[in-house]
Amino acid sequence: MEGIDKGRLRKLGEETLRCPVCGKKTLRVGIYLYDVPYFGEVILEAGRCESCGFRWTDVTLAEAGKGKRLKLRVEGDRELRALVVKSSSATIIMPELGVEIRPGPAAVGYITTVEGIVRKVLEHVPSECFNEGSECHDVVKMFEDAAEGKIKFTLIIEDPMGRSGIRGEGVSVEEEELS
Ligand SMILES: [Zn+2]
Repeated sequence: MEGIDKGRLRKLGEETLRCPVCGKKTLRVGIYLYDVPYFGEVILEAGRCESCGFRWTDVTLAEAGKGKRLKLRVEGDRELRALVVKSSSATIIMPELGVEIRPGPAAVGYITTVEGIVRKVLEHVPSECFNEGSECHDVVKMFEDAAEGKIKFTLIIEDPMGRSGIRGEGVSVEEEELS
């Protein structure tokens, strides 16, 4: 996983899972405890399928439990810098930006910032939209503006397994149980 400080990883074990891409039971995964600012220890899993090369990562809050909906109003830099533990079971919703990304069978989990979440969404935009003359360039501009704090938006993370979190300095996250 990018940006992982190996000094803060503690290996708990290993497992071999069925690969969601090729279906073979050759996805070898290491399980670690990882110390994350604001969260304390989270469980991090990372591995690679020996058959097809698929790389899989996932993260889980140590206190995972009930399904949760987390809601953060992003007003500027402070919220953009907040950390997000986004597990593979989480859905990302940004209503004002027209985003709703539900986890597919090969969904991964990762740790990033709110800005990082917006930039990841940008990876899903068709490449022709990055040309300034294209009809869909406005979409790219909208996500870039959101990542730079030029427009305000709401980030909602729904995790039916309660494995995800959003935390940061002076940031208030609304949390409700998912029914
Ligand atoms: Zn595979």
